[in-house]
Amino acid sequence: MSTAEPGRGASAHFEESWAGLLREGLGLTVHPAARQRLTARTAELLRRSWQDDPACTAAAEEAGTLLVDAHYTDPSVLARAVELLHAHPVPKGRGPVVAGAFAAGWAAALRERTLRDQEEIRAAADTARQTAERSQRATEARFRALFENAPIGIGIGDLHGNILEVNRALLDIFGGRVEELRGRRITDLVHPEDEPGTWQAYDELIRGERERFECTKPYFRKDGEVVWTHLTCSLIRDEERVPRYQVALLEDITDRYRLEERLRHQATHDTLTGLPNRAAFIDRLERLFRAPLADARFGICYLDLDGFKFVNDSLGHAAGDELLVAVARRLETAMAPLGHLVARLGGDEFVMLLERSRGQQDAVTVAKAALAALSNPVPVADRRLSVRASVGVLERSVATTTPEAAVRAADLTLYRAKEAGRGRWTLFDPGHHAREVTRYAMSVRMPAALERGEFFVDYQPLCTLSDGSLAAVEALVRWRHPDFGVLSPDDFIATAEQTGMIMRLGRWVLEEACGQAAEWVRRFGPAAPQVNVNVSVHQARDARLAADIGRVLRSSGLDPRLLQLEITESAVMRTDDDSMPTLRSLADTGITLAVDDFGTGWSPLGYLGELPVSGLKIAGSFLADTHRPEAAARQSWRVIEGLVSLARALGVKVTAEGVETAADAERLRAMGCDWGQGWHFGRPARPGEITRRIAQELRRAAAHNDARHYSE
Ligand code: C2E
Ligand code: CA
Repeated sequence: MSTAEPGRGASAHFEESWAGLLREGLGLTVHPAARQRLTARTAELLRRSWQDDPACTAAAEEAGTLLVDAHYTDPSVLARAVELLHAHPVPKGRGPVVAGAFAAGWAAALRERTLRDQEEIRAAADTARQTAERSQRATEARFRALFENAPIGIGIGDLHGNILEVNRALLDIFGGRVEELRGRRITDLVHPEDEPGTWQAYDELIRGERERFECTKPYFRKDGEVVWTHLTCSLIRDEERVPRYQVALLEDITDRYRLEERLRHQATHDTLTGLPNRAAFIDRLERLFRAPLADARFGICYLDLDGFKFVNDSLGHAAGDELLVAVARRLETAMAPLGHLVARLGGDEFVMLLERSRGQQDAVTVAKAALAALSNPVPVADRRLSVRASVGVLERSVATTTPEAAVRAADLTLYRAKEAGRGRWTLFDPGHHAREVTRYAMSVRMPAALERGEFFVDYQPLCTLSDGSLAAVEALVRWRHPDFGVLSPDDFIATAEQTGMIMRLGRWVLEEACGQAAEWVRRFGPAAPQVNVNVSVHQARDARLAADIGRVLRSSGLDPRLLQLEITESAVMRTDDDSMPTLRSLADTGITLAVDDFGTGWSPLGYLGELPVSGLKIAGSFLADTHRPEAAARQSWRVIEGLVSLARALGVKVTAEGVETAADAERLRAMGCDWGQGWHFGRPARPGEITRRIAQELRRAAAHNDARHYSE
């Protein structure tokens, strides 16, 4: 039965299963009509194979080919098909033969098809590669053209630091031929003036830690000249982002750099001496404070020539300039081995900066070296000038100060060196400095304080010794300071003189005192006291003083004869003739002058004949000394007596200051002294109190007159 012709039922069953297999298709979507045609055609071919003679397996092979052509290429389709063909009961054992032929057809078709597909892929890849190469070649050509003709130098290097390629512009920058540059090491191009950090940035770049850096960089040309460039260095990575090359773009900026350098030099150097100027010094100083080590110390030596003004005035400015240049050279030479910056701050002031100091001794050494450098006479204008200088030395740890505070402190220390006597160095003294700073802070506040009405004037009586009556009052200024309370003039007048504030303050005191005196005149007529106003050295020297006084007298309406100016003996002596005309023109207006602190100056008395002085005030220190032990007291009285008789000989009114007791007042009266001033006669007081006192004296005088009237 098994070898017999398959029955109708078996044949129908095969066809059903075959159609089912192709319908499932394993993921294939074939149009139903096409699938039915394929099913019918392949079933027909298989049937023919079963029936035909053994040689005719071609039909089964064709069925396999057709399936592959219709995209039934999944191996599991073949497996299922072979299973079906085996299971089909066919005669003469032809089942396996047909199945084998079918499978062979299927496989051959599939191989054929795969080869075709592979060829297509290869061809496509080929075309793609060709296109890519073409465009790459175009890019490369474009790149070449750019590279070669770029107006800016381009160099390409590998990551080991070898120069691989350079363009023409780069050769122009460096001079020389391609071969001389190619293969050289990039690290050979170091220049001593390379910006700090340049080579660190370079190392980071070739390690792939940064993509780019830019800087201004000098190079040595082949001929030894220096060329300045703007350098941009970039890292080139491949498609996998692996660093491959470095590219440097160099723009020759030598001309621009030199111009900038010249401008920079001009901005940071003094034209006369060629030394760094104040700006350069401040810049260097500030740099020390930017990122200091914890224990970093520095020093500043401020140097100022003594008597430079004299050279300028007597020998002329050209000689003065010559001297400054010579001093600059000497200081420079002296500091060169120590490596310290020497700068000219302006005028005859120089500074030396110790950027690294180990302690005060280092700074003192510098100050001594500077003074020693100036110890030999300097040839100037066919003469040999002896130069002397004062040095203020400041040595501090960077952590404890600021550049501004250090400069101010050094300046004040120099000022102290000058005060202490010239030709020496003085070390910064923190305690003294604190006081100076307070004074400085005070001087800064003064203008605003004047505006806000923080100043006021007290008046102290000057009394006739013969009868104790009020003859004059001295105006004494005070400052009601918001932080320090009421300050005495000793606390702020010196500062006001230093800052020039004394002119404004002095003018204000004059206005105040003259206004007050004029009011007393309005109220008490001839019984109103004269008013004495203190005038400082600076005021006396200032030509504006006469104009100021004229204006104040006019606006107050005060009779000039009721105004007396008190000028210290030392002020009169120190005026170098400057103030003589001013003081003389003042006297022409009718006001009078008194010499204050008389006897303390030990000065020749010639000026007394030249100046319209009408009063002398014997310094309170002499009376104070009369209260010391016997011998000193006797001595003081003798001096006072001498001063009194001197004044009388000159025909001027003499006042004794600091009269604290009735006994002193009596003794002075007996010796012929005219007036007395001091606590015995009254402390400095508010104007209202003086007003009451004048009124009281008037009443007493009236009573006295009445009494005399009745007694007659
Ligand atoms: P001075 O001209 O010698 O003024 C007298 C000073 O001696 C005043 O000090 C006064 O208070 C003080 N005095 C008065 N009687 C006695 C006394 O019996 N015993 C003692 N121990 N001292 C007495 P004050 O007010 O502190 O003034 C100090 C100095 O300030 C003045 O010295 C004067 O030179 C200056 N001064 C005051 N007001 C002005 C001003 O408006 N302009 C200028 N330029 N200087 C002024
Ligand atoms: Ca006085």
